[in-house]
Amino acid sequence: MAGHYIGIDIGGTNIKAALTDVVGTVLEAASAPTPDKLPQLIETIAGLANVFQSKTPVSAVGVGVAGLRNSRTHRIEVSPNLPCVREVNLEERLTEVLGLPVVTENDANAAAYGEWVSGAGKGLQHLVYITLGTGLGCALILDGRLFRGVSGYAGELGHTAMEVEGRPCACGSRGCLETRVSATGIVQTTREKDPQTKLNSAEAVYRAATAGDAVARSVFAETGRFLGLTCANVINLLNPQAIVIGGGVMASGELLLAAAREEVQRRAFRSSARDCEIVQSQLWPDAGTIGAAMLARDAS
Ligand SMILES: [Zn+2]
Repeated sequence: MAGHYIGIDIGGTNIKAALTDVVGTVLEAASAPTPDKLPQLIETIAGLANVFQSKTPVSAVGVGVAGLRNSRTHRIEVSPNLPCVREVNLEERLTEVLGLPVVTENDANAAAYGEWVSGAGKGLQHLVYITLGTGLGCALILDGRLFRGVSGYAGELGHTAMEVEGRPCACGSRGCLETRVSATGIVQTTREKDPQTKLNSAEAVYRAATAGDAVARSVFAETGRFLGLTCANVINLLNPQAIVIGGGVMASGELLLAAAREEVQRRAFRSSARDCEIVQSQLWPDAGTIGAAMLARDAS
């Protein structure tokens, strides 16, 4: 099993790449903007991989993609932020171009796998991973393996409904968790509380909150309560050992987690809550590339 692996994380804005050793240590990293056309996307990924391949023999490549990957056909079925990969078998296309075994996986699944192999969830049997960025991604490790469901689409916690008449969601539904607990949700909550607000990013709201701004603080308290409500649901449903939370919005760390933990205490069964740690990601922002590389390792 010795060798080197490449992990790729294709997001809506950037493609990140890492060369890792056999246990997921990042030896070298690179990134490039995400092109919106498929041929250029393939070319960019090949370019990033070739740099690593020119330096050391690589055994396999793993690719995390923002979208629903069908585990039977290996095609990406839905990808709102990356329309050019829709109904594409990226595995086949990249295997041809790179001349190496390639596996693809949903990006949250890949990141969860990384945390499980070498991060905050190392050694656990039952782990829920939540990633807070533009949207809310989630993945499940159950009984010591990545849980994909019947067709590979499991873990869409971001699109579980929290409110009957909630905000419209990008998925076509209403009141999804993601419309509240995400960078986009944080900005919208701020606007609803103060229509004149100049805070136009989750980061700006966070900075204002840490500077003592009352509206921004109440936005984080409310978002944290929704996150906590969800964690309580997940704890009661799955009885996991840990919920690991990563993603760009988790730069706001404890501000969100403190409110979430309080809500968990109010809502979840005490005995299940006691067994479940709610912790921050250890590998962020590299969880996705490390996880993809380790998925490639374990598939080869
Ligand atoms: Zn939705």
